Amino acid sequence: MTTGTGPDIAANLEQIRQRIDRAAQKSGRTAQDVTLVAVSKTHPQERVKAALDAGHRIFGENRVQEAEGKYPGLREAFPELELHLIGPLQTNKAEDAVALFDVIQTLDREKLAKALVKAMDKLDRRPPCFVQVNVGEEPQKAGVLPEEADAFIASCRDDYGLPLAGVMCIPPLDEAPAPHFALLRQIAERNGLAGLSMGMSGDYETAVELGATHVRVGTAIFGERPPQS
Ligand SMILES: *Cc1c(COP(=O)(O)O)cnc(C)c1O
Repeated sequence: MTTGTGPDIAANLEQIRQRIDRAAQKSGRTAQDVTLVAVSKTHPQERVKAALDAGHRIFGENRVQEAEGKYPGLREAFPELELHLIGPLQTNKAEDAVALFDVIQTLDREKLAKALVKAMDKLDRRPPCFVQVNVGEEPQKAGVLPEEADAFIASCRDDYGLPLAGVMCIPPLDEAPAPHFALLRQIAERNGLAGLSMGMSGDYETAVELGATHVRVGTAIFGERPPQS
C-alpha cells in the first residue's frame, strides 16, 4: 500500500499484524506469540520514524555501521525501541554489535561465538543470540549446516556460555520455504530453544503457521529497497 509520498507504513503494519494473527490462530496461537521485526535496512530514518509513530518498536538491520548511523537518536526518543541484528557479523564488529543491538540473530561460527563472549564480558551486556542455520545448505549463504547445528548450539551454550534464544534461517529463494521452516523448527525443538526466527515479506504467514516466534519483514512494511551497492 502506498500514498503519494511513499508507502503507508502504518497501514502496512496494521495489515501484516492482522495476517500474522490469522496465521497464528491456525497454529493455535495468537499474534502476541509472534514478534514482528520490521526490517529497515537501506531505508531512511524517516520511514523508521513513521513506524515508531504508528506504535511499532522492534526493528531489524543487517549492517552494524548503517544501524549506528540510523538508530541512536531514535533510541533516545523511544526508549523501548528494540533492535535486532539480522545480517552477517564480522568478528571485528562484535563489540559494536553487542553495544548497539538488543538481539543478535546471526551467530553462525565458533570464531564469532568467541568474539561475542569477549565483547559481552567487556561491556557487561548480554543480548540474546539466535544461531543462524543454513537450512538450504547453500554455499554462498551464512549459517551452520543443519547436521552441525546441534553440536554448535551445545558449544555456544556449554563452552561459551552465550545467551541463546533460538535459531534463525533464510531459506533458498527458489524453493518452497515450508520444508526449510519445518527443519528449523525440529532443530529448535530438539535443542530446547524457544525462539524460531523465520519468514520474510513473501512467506511470513507460512512461517507463522509452522511456529515462527519472530518474523523479519522489510519490503511489505517499508516498500521496495533501493538497489544496494
Ligand atoms: C532483508 C532481510 C529480510 C527482509 O526481507 P523482505 O523480503 O524485504 O521482507 C529478512 N531477513 C533478513 C535476514 C534480511 O536480510
